Amino acid sequence: MIGLKYGIVGFRGKMGREIFEYFSTFGDECVLKKDVDSFEQTDTPQVIIDFSSPSALEETVKLCREHKIALVLGTTALEERHFEMLRELANEVPVVQSYNFSTGINILRKILREYTRYFSDWDAAMVEIHHTQKKDAPSGTAKMLRNDMNRDIPISSLRIGGVFGEHTVIFSNAGEVVEIKHSALSRRAFSIGVRHAALFTLKKQKGFYSYEDVLNENL
Ligand code: NAD
Repeated sequence: MIGLKYGIVGFRGKMGREIFEYFSTFGDECVLKKDVDSFEQTDTPQVIIDFSSPSALEETVKLCREHKIALVLGTTALEERHFEMLRELANEVPVVQSYNFSTGINILRKILREYTRYFSDWDAAMVEIHHTQKKDAPSGTAKMLRNDMNRDIPISSLRIGGVFGEHTVIFSNAGEVVEIKHSALSRRAFSIGVRHAALFTLKKQKGFYSYEDVLNENL
């Protein structure tokens, strides 16, 4: 689809700028730009995309409710009270929330959920590598993948140079090794998924969805 009208909360941030740049390649129009102490609106968006901070969510939800528009939410570190707000909003409009909008990571999650059981008597571990500015270790994504495996495996975290994000799951027995690896090359890994999610909301009346629901819809 060409000509999506959307809004961004966290417009000046790294993800906000990346989403704006990527969506522009399709001729989409950013008609609402919100950040700390700035708000600019030229039209009513069809969907609001929020990659900012949990503290922004209350106002974002208000905006969506006021205009009866969908929400795609990528902000991390949400608490239960935020999820409550989202579930309430989802009774009125479509909401897609995910801590990781990368298509590859979401496919990897499905693979791990389905196939980890075949390695039940093998050793398993994960190595995750990120740039030196990353504050948390292990990464939220690594913990999510381990959770999908339903196995308490060791995670080794390396922080070197400018590596954008690598997660490798390793299975090994005495005679062989199987490695499954995902590398994010740039923030584009997320903005591609965000656009899929934004288009997905246009086909829905209301409801609370994950990025996996978006992927399943396109199968
Ligand atoms: P960033 O710090 O570069 O940008 C955040 C932006 O939000 C800043 O411009 C900031 O001024 C703005 N902001 C903060 N509080 C606000 C408020 N109350 N109202 C309006 N704007 C506000 O961070 P980033 O790397 O762009 O990441 C933003 C969020 O997205 C983080 O929570 C990050 O963890 C998350 N993230 C999620 C995914 C995903 O796939 N779900 C991917 C990357 C980043």
